[in-house]
Amino acid sequence: MKAQVAVLPGDGIGPEVVEQGVRVLRQVASQFGHAIELREALFGGCAIDRTGQPLPSETLDASQQADAVLLGAVGGPKWDPPAKPRPEEGLLGLRRELGLYANLRPVKPFAQLAHASTLKPEVIQGVDLLLVRELTGGIYFGHKQREPGYAVDTCTYSVVEIERVVRAACGYAMSRKRRLVSVDKANVLETSRLWRETATRIVRDEFPQLQLTHLLVDACAMHLIRMPASFDVIVTENLFGDILSDEAAMIAGSIGMLPSASLGEGKRGLYEPIHGSAPDLAGKGVANPYGTILSVALLLRHSLGLESEARAVEAAVGAAIGRGVLTADLAHAGTRAASCAEAGGAVLEALARGES
Ligand code: NAD
Repeated sequence: MKAQVAVLPGDGIGPEVVEQGVRVLRQVASQFGHAIELREALFGGCAIDRTGQPLPSETLDASQQADAVLLGAVGGPKWDPPAKPRPEEGLLGLRRELGLYANLRPVKPFAQLAHASTLKPEVIQGVDLLLVRELTGGIYFGHKQREPGYAVDTCTYSVVEIERVVRAACGYAMSRKRRLVSVDKANVLETSRLWRETATRIVRDEFPQLQLTHLLVDACAMHLIRMPASFDVIVTENLFGDILSDEAAMIAGSIGMLPSASLGEGKRGLYEPIHGSAPDLAGKGVANPYGTILSVALLLRHSLGLESEARAVEAAVGAAIGRGVLTADLAHAGTRAASCAEAGGAVLEALARGES
């Protein structure tokens, strides 16, 4: 098959982890006989430095023309407030322009990494959950105002915005264990009451086979570390999803392990590890690239429809970890940590050998 992928390395460790993701994507293309054309573009803080804009029009064009976008991360102290514009504006703009309203964050820890999690191995055992976060609405996109001694952020949701992401989550739950947890703060927030009513109606009318549970976000935060294996699919609004997904990352041992996919109506998606630009690690070659490589697997699955290739990449990551190729965030105390490039190389080797 032929496909075009826009590659946006971004800032901080973004270029380092994306480089490993690109190596894997190239190898998948040659090993499985696909023509995947990669087009790199400026995005985030580095784009502000070169063009004055976090999302230059050439980058948006390249993303709109592509079948999928692979992103590292954006941001860093150089562009922190009060600097303007901010790299994150580019990210919000790209998600909005591509109409990507559902952010998928699968959490399925590798058994060999049980030592890296702060949770007990018996608590992590059997965890296989999918967090679906609404991505283009809520407080991140609402009216903002700043006056001396006073600030406003407005949270807004329409029925249509809630319906489409809940429907997407229901679809994923149907192909899994058919259990959906909808997370809100309906005891306090009006938008959450609308969220709960809408989720209840969609499941009742369109997905009656699903078991739907509502959880308040504070209770969900607690259950996620108390009994994470009890979850199948979680759907929630933008802000709650942002926070809960970082919490869920710790189940997997490191924020560097988790991939994400952002999808809209069509097949085009944006794929990125859930971590940020980690300025403390940038340029040292020590960042964990597995979350980015697993994002490449999601890209192959969701945008290019290449399920066997996606599984091969996931299996190769598992094999690299199984052989003990662990970056500093994962390594056992007292053992030598692998570099970012070594971890990427171990995945390439496992992929070439067809290891699982
Ligand atoms: P961060 O995710 O960059 O880092 C949090 C911690 O996790 C740090 O200790 C970091 O060293 C570690 N870490 C992150 N990724 C890692 C990896 N691949 N391997 C090993 N360790 C890793 O979050 P932060 O420090 O709060 O934010 C840094 C910058 O990133 C900020 O400018 C923020 O706005 C931006 N950010 C961007 C995105 C994005 O581009 N999607 C997401 C979150 C934060």
